[in-house]
Amino acid sequence: MSMRMRIIQLKRNKFARVAIGSVIIIILLFALFKRSTKIQYPTQPSYAKQFKHSLIPPFYRDGVPGNFESSIPNHGSGPGEGGIPYRVPSSRENEALLGISEYGMNMACSDDISLNRTIPDLRMEECRFWNYPEELPRTSVIIVFHNEGWSSLLRTVHSVLNRTPPQFLEEILLVDDFSDKENLKNKLEYYIEKFNGKVRLIRNSEREGLIRTRSKGALNARGEIILFLDAHCEVGYNWLPPLVSPIALDRKIMTVPVIDGIDHNTWEYRPVYEKDHFFRGIFEWGMLYKEIELPEQEDQKRTYKSEPYKSPTHAGGLFAINRDYFLELGAYDPGLLVWGGENFELSFKIWQCGGSIEWVPCSRVGHVYRGFMPYNFGKLGSKVKGPLITYNYKRVIETWFDSKHKEFFYTREPLARYLDMGDISAQLELKDRLQCKDFSWFMENVAYDVYTKFPELPPNIHWGEVHNVGKKKCLDTRGRQPPSLIGLELCHGQGNNQLFRLNAKGQLGVGERCVNADRQGVKLIVCSLGTVDGPWQYESSNKLLHHTRTKKCLSVHPSSPQVMLTPCDTNNANQQWVFKPIIPNW
Ligand code: UDP
Ligand code: MN
Repeated sequence: MSMRMRIIQLKRNKFARVAIGSVIIIILLFALFKRSTKIQYPTQPSYAKQFKHSLIPPFYRDGVPGNFESSIPNHGSGPGEGGIPYRVPSSRENEALLGISEYGMNMACSDDISLNRTIPDLRMEECRFWNYPEELPRTSVIIVFHNEGWSSLLRTVHSVLNRTPPQFLEEILLVDDFSDKENLKNKLEYYIEKFNGKVRLIRNSEREGLIRTRSKGALNARGEIILFLDAHCEVGYNWLPPLVSPIALDRKIMTVPVIDGIDHNTWEYRPVYEKDHFFRGIFEWGMLYKEIELPEQEDQKRTYKSEPYKSPTHAGGLFAINRDYFLELGAYDPGLLVWGGENFELSFKIWQCGGSIEWVPCSRVGHVYRGFMPYNFGKLGSKVKGPLITYNYKRVIETWFDSKHKEFFYTREPLARYLDMGDISAQLELKDRLQCKDFSWFMENVAYDVYTKFPELPPNIHWGEVHNVGKKKCLDTRGRQPPSLIGLELCHGQGNNQLFRLNAKGQLGVGERCVNADRQGVKLIVCSLGTVDGPWQYESSNKLLHHTRTKKCLSVHPSSPQVMLTPCDTNNANQQWVFKPIIPNW
């Protein structure tokens, strides 16, 4: 064989070997591919779309416990173990009542329950099959507190230490908002020494309120992620990785756990939301926080029901965010006072300035809802003439709303127009500097479902105190909860319980409630969601307030302060009403 032939043959042989080799490789690859599509590992969730850098986004393997799952400890038999309700012995009933009035929660009950108690695992089953990045940024859990109960505060701390992978926990930062309870002084400092620096305590030198105290916590935190909790929480199993992963992949995402309820009287741990129902945070036009079932269009963006989903707002107390990002956003508006509206300020700011909020079904945290607020607003409360919370709301809406939506707020809260809101120029400057989008963008693209429950508000045709000409008294809700009868009381010019609004579509409202009438009388009711219509019509010429459905008129019983519907009679002064706008002397 000539050299040339040999070379050709060799080449042929080589060619054949390469060809056979390639075929084998292709077959192998194909088999591998087939196999990988068959076992679906790792499945790419819709999370992957957000994949920004080298972290492997969370992935789901059906039936295989996720990388941070551990077995749920057996519930002991002690008081409150497993989250079952606990009642203190009757000999301590008095102590229990005292605790409720001092703290808004039954501290005698809490004191009997172990700081390390177990709680039920209320997560959806899918949650056990998620894998999260092994390398997550470290978190500072920030707990601000003002005169909180000892055992409920420390149970919050213990639950975090017990149920958080230590490598991800930078610290628990306790920020004392000028508490004056003795046990929260030296005793607390000694107690946390046993955690070897993992739990840190800083204190305000005067009362700052929860909003500024949280901002202070953020400034002082050492972790890349900051995660706020109220001082009466218990975190759930594997709560942290699902909350931090979305932020690790996109630093402009703020995450919110699903909140469970801890009963303020029995410490029972139970879900707030019905199983397999997903809610997100919105608001009504008076800026009360509301929730609404996740719209279909958002639900469909998820591959798994257990995945996070977008929410326009959040309740306020419990959330995680990248610390630098929070500070870039100016933390909370430092002009907000004590409590209220800060959840909206942060929500609008995040969304309008390029970030987003996600609720995370697989991260659950229990929170004690108290029956009432056990503290006052201290010196800060007297800084504002008029209601402090409305002051905060006004700052927020004047900064973030556009003129159309501001009008809805003032329609719903007419007195807010007269209220001082301090200086918001720094907030407007920030909005400008960060080139934030306007509110109509937010309403159209993010909070579009608000309108389905709280439609655009028609203007008030008449508003103020509703004076009865005959009795010279005013319509009054007496501060009762709906459904309740409306009565007649001395007019007092303060607005409280006597500020009624009749809108252009016949709805008569008081605060977030409405007025309607049935055979029993004229009642304060829960307004029907999704409509701003109502049955009332006011005729200025004869001062009659018509109930159009019954064709009767609002009147007062001749010998009692009872308000009712009777056949219309223009000559009866007990049927004549005059709306007098309230001009507060704030
Ligand atoms: N808090 C505070 N300073 C205040 C008021 C409240 O540090 O002036 C703390 C309080 O101890 C709690 C958190 O802020 O840990 C949230 O307050 P609260 O639980 O009363 O609010 P809610 O859950 O009722 O909205
Ligand atoms: Mn709370």
